Amino acid sequence: MQLRVRALETVLTEKGYVDPAALDLLIETYETKIGPRNGARVVARAWVDADYRARLFKDATPAIAELGYAGRQGEHIVALENTPEVHNMVVCTLCSCYPWPVLGLPPVWYKSAPYRSRAVADPRGVLAEFGVTLPPETEIRVWDSTSEIRYLVVPMRPAGTEGWSEEKLAELVTRDSMIGTGLPKSPADLAK
Ligand code: FE
Repeated sequence: MQLRVRALETVLTEKGYVDPAALDLLIETYETKIGPRNGARVVARAWVDADYRARLFKDATPAIAELGYAGRQGEHIVALENTPEVHNMVVCTLCSCYPWPVLGLPPVWYKSAPYRSRAVADPRGVLAEFGVTLPPETEIRVWDSTSEIRYLVVPMRPAGTEGWSEEKLAELVTRDSMIGTGLPKSPADLAK
């Protein structure tokens, strides 16, 4: 795969379709500046600010832009609310659509054929493989991303975090908890 990508880049550069410096800048931006820390800040804000939370669930794209996150692959983001009754999980069955501005680039497993098919056919089994066991009465809703709509899961705020600052809360928010294949860290996890 790496060789194929390099060959493709060489051809596109030789033909003048891409500028290698621009490509490097794009890659560096997604590796260092844009990643799940952005989404974690959105979730933490939603945990502490009821008005922000309401705006986020009404129309996530502008609410996320309030924190300065916008751009490619994030034109239409929908926030999904996890509750004791409903757990949301995101997949792209067709390819690898993912909310780049808030989560960065997708992990390899997200793009893999087994995840893409099994997330739909057996979400509880997939969650178990990620080490997540939910109460049997919790409904699992699986959302299929498209090039038009990307999803951000807003996990439930962990117990024992009353009075925590937004910054500290954001440290509990994992990438997988915003895809729905994980849960946020607990205060005890953070102390480890
Ligand atoms: Fe896709």
